[in-house]
Amino acid sequence: MRKKKKGKAKKKVRSKNKKAKSPRRKKTAKPQKKQLPVRKLKAGKEKVYPSHGLSHEDLAERKVCLTDWHPNLKYKWDAGVAISRYLNGLKKGVLLGRRCRHCSRVLVPPRMFCEWCFQPTSEWIKLADTGTVNTFSVSYVAWNMVRLKEPQVPAVIEIDGASKGVGIMHLLGEIDPKKIKIGIRVKAVWKPPEERQGAITDIKYFKPI
Ligand SMILES: [Zn+2]
Repeated sequence: MRKKKKGKAKKKVRSKNKKAKSPRRKKTAKPQKKQLPVRKLKAGKEKVYPSHGLSHEDLAERKVCLTDWHPNLKYKWDAGVAISRYLNGLKKGVLLGRRCRHCSRVLVPPRMFCEWCFQPTSEWIKLADTGTVNTFSVSYVAWNMVRLKEPQVPAVIEIDGASKGVGIMHLLGEIDPKKIKIGIRVKAVWKPPEERQGAITDIKYFKPI
């Protein structure tokens, strides 16, 4: 019963509006725009479908339509121009850097772009495999969170020939961790050539000299 009353009330309002607008239209000579058909939704007429969000149980019990698909996709990571040449150098037992002619810095690992000058770097530099410990850490936990009896000593090593403060991170070896100090001189211990793969691990560690 209530619905019918509401409907009647709306119709009355519309008819009043029509009457109010009609005299204006007659005065203006502008052509009337065609009104697009509007779908009139009547309250309470929409069809409601019973539904709820999917739960983990619904998926596990396969209450919904599922499909399993394991794509056979293969990926390759491009090391880029500078790092590719750097890695190839490691395979040959050579450390390569790159010089920026604007600020004269020699960067290792090499980069084709100087982040100080916002300019391309210009020259390849063959570096020594010796350097100076810039900073280090004595770690009794491996990278995979396994406790170590013998600690690993990761260090940042400023490579000879590169600019001051520029270096690579690697491990120190053949040294008592208690005797390591910032500033000690070290040299790379390379894997045998046949075992090198073009990776930073082609250097086993740096030992003191
Ligand atoms: Zn620069």
